[in-house]
Amino acid sequence: MRKIIEKLRETGFLEKEEFICLIENRNKDSFEYMSFLAREERKKVFGNKVYIRGLIEFTNYCKNDCFYCGIRKSNTNVTRYRLTEEDIMECCKQGYELGFRTFVLQGGEDFHYNDDLLCGIVENIKKSYADCALTLSVGERSYASYKRLFDCGADRYLLRHETADDEHYRKLHPSDLSLENRKECLFNLKEIGYQVGCGFMVGSPYQTVENIVGDLFFIKELKPHMIGIGPFISHCDTCFAEFKNGTAELTLYLISILRLMFPRVLLPATTALGTLDPSGREKGILAGANVVMPNLSPVSVRKKYSLYDNKICTGDEAAECVNSLKKSIENIGYRIVVERGDY
Ligand code: SAM
Repeated sequence: MRKIIEKLRETGFLEKEEFICLIENRNKDSFEYMSFLAREERKKVFGNKVYIRGLIEFTNYCKNDCFYCGIRKSNTNVTRYRLTEEDIMECCKQGYELGFRTFVLQGGEDFHYNDDLLCGIVENIKKSYADCALTLSVGERSYASYKRLFDCGADRYLLRHETADDEHYRKLHPSDLSLENRKECLFNLKEIGYQVGCGFMVGSPYQTVENIVGDLFFIKELKPHMIGIGPFISHCDTCFAEFKNGTAELTLYLISILRLMFPRVLLPATTALGTLDPSGREKGILAGANVVMPNLSPVSVRKKYSLYDNKICTGDEAAECVNSLKKSIENIGYRIVVERGDY
């Protein structure tokens, strides 16, 4: 195992069989060795800096019906909400005062926010906070729409590919969604000039080790600037309510693999990881992650953006508790910085 891990560190890549062996035969020793090397790699590029992103979950309306997602359109138990432009600007104001220099606008696929409305919001944020980066995460849109939003000032785009295997994709999504389109969106975003993030859920229903290796190969092909992975967590009102959650352990192991594959990538310790394990965020940083994304949404809507059961949204997960987050990050030898944190 150590030989394979060292090859991964030296070359940044492995053969399919070697990746499978690395994942299937993982043990305490390989886990610790890999996270040690991943920490060294991130230190070379980023020192002990950790970047923060203020996450604004601005709508939980969604036209899609992804089988795993709590805000899927057919879930009638969700109380739907939309933030107005004024609400969003107020979130940014609070975030700026707290030291955030990246805002992430995330939501369901809600075409109430057409290009005119969303471009107006993007322009307003960029005009008011010229030293901040703006990330969008609003799903699949046309090339022309992505281009308009980019031209209005959006800097980055997060669109997890979810799984790079076609058959697996169809087990997670209804037939009107396709992996082909998802991938095309990602390549379009790159071509337009966004800093792009892809990613997948760890332990999603029907996922095999081969699927995960396929994800690693796809990520290698896309060469994203950001990679978001987090454990799948079941939601009681979805088709996958009875499925087992992914594990923090495999998520952390994959964070280390990704850091060794892509030393310069921006890699968050995600909310889902923090939901499964109360110290998931710190463990994520120690496994090679270098980004955390506290919740900057108005407190009144936080519980309504329920992608999965028991999603954390208060305590250190909340942007207003960033000082306590700073302390816990300092306690493990790292430092939260007030910077945009570009690729
Ligand atoms: N609508 C946008 C999109 O499709 O990219 C952004 C919002 S979507 C809710 C954000 C991410 O939440 C998805 O890419 C998915 O990976 C994650 N997610 C949804 N349901 C989840 C679950 N049950 N467990 C873990 N992550 C989940």
